Amino acid sequence: MLVKSEGIVLREVKFEETNKILTIFSRKYGKVTAMARGALRPRSPLIASSQVFSYSDYNFYKGKSFYHVNQGDIIDSFYSIREDMNRLLYGAYILELVDSSIVEEVPNERLFELLKKGLKVLSSLDKDFLKFIIAFEIKYISFLGYRPYLNKCVLCDKDINNTLKFSINYGGVICKDCFKLDHYSEKMDILMLNFLKDLLYAPLDELDEIKIPKDVMFKLQDIMVKYILNNIEKKKFYSLDFMKSIKKNGGL
Ligand SMILES: [Zn+2]
Repeated sequence: MLVKSEGIVLREVKFEETNKILTIFSRKYGKVTAMARGALRPRSPLIASSQVFSYSDYNFYKGKSFYHVNQGDIIDSFYSIREDMNRLLYGAYILELVDSSIVEEVPNERLFELLKKGLKVLSSLDKDFLKFIIAFEIKYISFLGYRPYLNKCVLCDKDINNTLKFSINYGGVICKDCFKLDHYSEKMDILMLNFLKDLLYAPLDELDEIKIPKDVMFKLQDIMVKYILNNIEKKKFYSLDFMKSIKKNGGL
C-alpha cells in the first residue's frame, strides 16, 4: 500500500552496504520505521531526505513489517543545526525526547507541529539555549498529556501563596499544608513558578521578552527533566549525559 505523509527523521542506522533504516516521526501515521534502500549510494535521490533532522514529504510503501521510503521531497533539512555545537547537542536531545516517548503508528499532530517549530527556532538560535529547551520541554510534556497543574495546589486545590513545592509524583505544585504528603517534592518558589507558566504559554519563537536568571533556569531544567523521565518511565537521556560530558571537558 502506498501512503504519503510529511515527516521528520529522528534516527538513522546504516543497514548493509548502502541502505539506511530510519525512524521517522510522520504527521499522519506517527512514528514509523522505514527502510531507505540505497540511501547511502553517492547519487541516491534519498540522500538529503534520509538524514537526521530532515523534514520532508515522503512517499512510503507499507510492507508487512515496516515501511519503505520510495521518495522524499525535502521541505527543510535544518542544516544549520549541524553547524553549531550547541544547536546540535540540544537538537539531539529534542529528537531523543520525541523518539523515546511516542509509540509506533500513533499520530500526535500537536507534537509533530511542536517538533517542527522547535527545530525551526533552534536552527537560527545563537543564545538562551536553556530557556528555549525548558519552554520546549514543558510544551512537549503537556502535549503528551502530562501538563503539570500550576494554578492551584494539585492535591487540595487551594490557592498557592509564596510557600510551595513542585511534586513530580502528583504532577503539579503543592501548598505548604500538603508538603507532608510528598516527601520527595522539589523546592520551588513563586518566581520560578511564574517563569514556568510564562514558558508554557509563550510561543517558542517569542521567548526574548522573558528574562530568567541563570540559576533559576538550571533549577527549572533539573525539575523538568525529572518530571519528564518520571512520566515517560525512563531512567535517563543519553543526549543529556553526552552534553554534560562535553561541557565538563571544556568542549563548549
Ligand atoms: Zn495543598
